[in-house]
Amino acid sequence: MTVWVLGDQLSPDATPLQHDDHVLMIEAHAFGERLPYHPQKLALVFSAMRHFRDDLRERGYEVTYIEAETFADGLDRFYDAAPGTDLVMMDPPSHGAGERFRHLVESRGGSLTLVENDRFLTTPAEFDSWAGDAESYRQEHWYRHVRRETGILMDGDDPAGGEWNYDDQNRETPPDDWTPPEAPRFLPDDVTQEAIEFVRERYPAAWGSADEFVWPVTRDEARQALDHFVETRLTEFGPYQDAMLDGEWALCHSLLSASINLGLLTPHEVVEVVEDAYRDGTAPLNSVEGFVRQVVGWREFMRHVYRRSMPELADANQLGQTESLPEAYWTGETDMKCLSEAVGHVYDHGYAHHIERLMVLSNFALVYGVDPQELNRWFHLGFVDAYHWVTTPNVVGMGSFATDVLSSKPYASSGNYVNKMSDYCSSCPYAVSKTTGSNACPFNALYWDFLKENEELLRGTGRMGLMYSHVDRKDDDEWAEISARATEIRQMGRDGTL
Ligand code: FAD
Repeated sequence: MTVWVLGDQLSPDATPLQHDDHVLMIEAHAFGERLPYHPQKLALVFSAMRHFRDDLRERGYEVTYIEAETFADGLDRFYDAAPGTDLVMMDPPSHGAGERFRHLVESRGGSLTLVENDRFLTTPAEFDSWAGDAESYRQEHWYRHVRRETGILMDGDDPAGGEWNYDDQNRETPPDDWTPPEAPRFLPDDVTQEAIEFVRERYPAAWGSADEFVWPVTRDEARQALDHFVETRLTEFGPYQDAMLDGEWALCHSLLSASINLGLLTPHEVVEVVEDAYRDGTAPLNSVEGFVRQVVGWREFMRHVYRRSMPELADANQLGQTESLPEAYWTGETDMKCLSEAVGHVYDHGYAHHIERLMVLSNFALVYGVDPQELNRWFHLGFVDAYHWVTTPNVVGMGSFATDVLSSKPYASSGNYVNKMSDYCSSCPYAVSKTTGSNACPFNALYWDFLKENEELLRGTGRMGLMYSHVDRKDDDEWAEISARATEIRQMGRDGTL
């Protein structure tokens, strides 16, 4: 058997690699032209694959590494040289990918065995047995189930510290004189530099800057990034995880998603190292639990919800949203401080932290009325950690509320949320206190307009009662002004004058 290792399965301890020492890797280049992918994303994947190839060779594996236009072309070359070879691969999480690869292999006279993907903490069978026939799911229930089953952050039958959730301690904004710890920087070595140059030449339409590439490209670097996070940022990760600060792209977030999604780190080890920091007294429980929930709860949950809800999930649009993305998502040029910061972070780094993704980038698109599929494409092309299996449930499900499969209410808010959690509004030319008028914060009119326009679906939805009590207090004149302002903002979004 030969192990076919995909670009997001770069783990030397992956199960198939323990049984066979012949490896196939295919770097498929035309894939990167389907969308104007961020150059750092493309360079990261190519560099990490090339490093992994070299690492496996040093460990004694015989690696066939093919640079090709497509997987089909790569397999043609492989089977010309090694007819009839049987391949084994860890089942990729993106919908239908495993079967498509199997078809490509079989039509060239080989066989492909798909085995469990052990780059996740939980298996499909575990989730399916927990979820039964359900067609909608709630993360919190799943998260508690996994902690009980695995013993992660448990003291016997009870959650460590007695509570499942310490979110009430995790919604702070830093004091004015606080500066975040330096984000770790893994400067490009020769292999990465070559990948960056290749990407610059091959993908001139790529969206984003390749100038500030700092991502780990090897397992060793990813381990350093994990240790650096635990030593320098984990303590403040919890309290400041929802905060946003002018000019700061990383704050105390771990920046580990790209490494975990590539397979350079396993979710098991990440959680273990973070739990150890709590057990040995070097990190507080609210930070540790907050982080563990992201990995054990959200990441695993998203993977399984995606698996069970595809292909409908990708096309879902229960609110019937049809607007194109505002120009500002492409240019970053907008007077809205929050939006220009968040888009700027994505353009410069291929990254924005969770609250920028959820409460700025997808929240604004949601209340503006953007088509969820278009938003999903933008997230998919713009982020270094984006893969269809993880971007789609987060963008279409969580961010766009295009389906109620994983949440019972939309993550929609006015400018108040951004004002509470950031220092943006004080230096923004738009007034967060105003809903209508030419300098009113665009979030505000769009938010009320969104609630009004989607009243039929949302009024009865869980936890929206308070919002609709505010809706009910507005009179017809106020609604006419809100609607006019929302229409004006959408036009500004199209014109690029937001
Ligand atoms: P931290 O804040 O330090 O969190 C720790 C880890 O938890 C992350 O590294 C990640 O592995 C995991 N995690 C946390 N939340 C989620 C989640 N909702 N889904 C999956 N994993 C999670 N994550 C991606 O990996 N790829 C994406 O393409 C992606 N797109 C997103 C789009 C939207 C609209 C939203 C709201 C969230 C998206 N997320 C995505 C989830 C989350 O925002 C990122 O995983 C996180 O911001 C990555 O930064 P970090 O490593 O610094 O995370």
